[in-house]
Amino acid sequence: MSDSEDEAVERQVKITLVGAPQVGKTSLALRYTQDTFSKTYQASMGVDFYLKRLILGSEKNVSVQVWDVAGSALAGKMTDKYLYGTHAILFVYDVTVGSTLDGLQEWVTAARKAARAQDRPPLFALVANKADMEHVRQVKSDRHHRFASEHGMTSYVVSAKTGEGVALSFQKIAAELLGVRLSKAEQEQQQPVVTAEIETFQEATLPKVPPVATPSSSTVCSLM
Ligand code: GDP
Repeated sequence: MSDSEDEAVERQVKITLVGAPQVGKTSLALRYTQDTFSKTYQASMGVDFYLKRLILGSEKNVSVQVWDVAGSALAGKMTDKYLYGTHAILFVYDVTVGSTLDGLQEWVTAARKAARAQDRPPLFALVANKADMEHVRQVKSDRHHRFASEHGMTSYVVSAKTGEGVALSFQKIAAELLGVRLSKAEQEQQQPVVTAEIETFQEATLPKVPPVATPSSSTVCSLM
């Protein structure tokens, strides 16, 4: 096969996101495929698709399909259909709401059932989202790792808001599925520059601190 024919061969990867409503599945799909983030919440219905084309190591023409399955889908009868043929399932939870990790148990059961119909079982990965909310984190690292190892999952900690870890996680999963080894440079390229957000407070909401009597001497400390 010539080089140009080689490049024309498209390798497709289907990655499905599942988990409770509001954990950030749509946000992760948007962050990865369009590098955008929205603070407003709109409930997903059924399933949404996103697509990203990329070069992955020696694979010049990779298309990653991201399927965003509504949290409410678990209650319906379509779960098997959404999960059928997927190469990887990302079990997403919100680090600030512990029950969203417990709730993944039901998704794991449904995914295992759906996987029985497939020749090649999908890769399972645990994704802890909202890592930017460290100050209100409920799920500690050991609980996260315990869940992942109990279910034979690789695991990631990400933030769809800042982009931290998002592209790298998808990239690693796609590379694993395609049997591609990512170079260190390729991995580093996927790390976003995370900027801190400055919150502004209303003066009235801040607690009143009594004025401190300032001594007349200077508070400057100088080292000689
Ligand atoms: P889905 O129902 O699982 O698809 O959740 P969404 O993607 O719609 O997100 C639910 C809410 O969480 C929205 O208000 C998002 O803006 C917010 N959100 C999603 N990801 C993050 C994140 O990483 N950090 C923070 N702070 N908020 C997030």
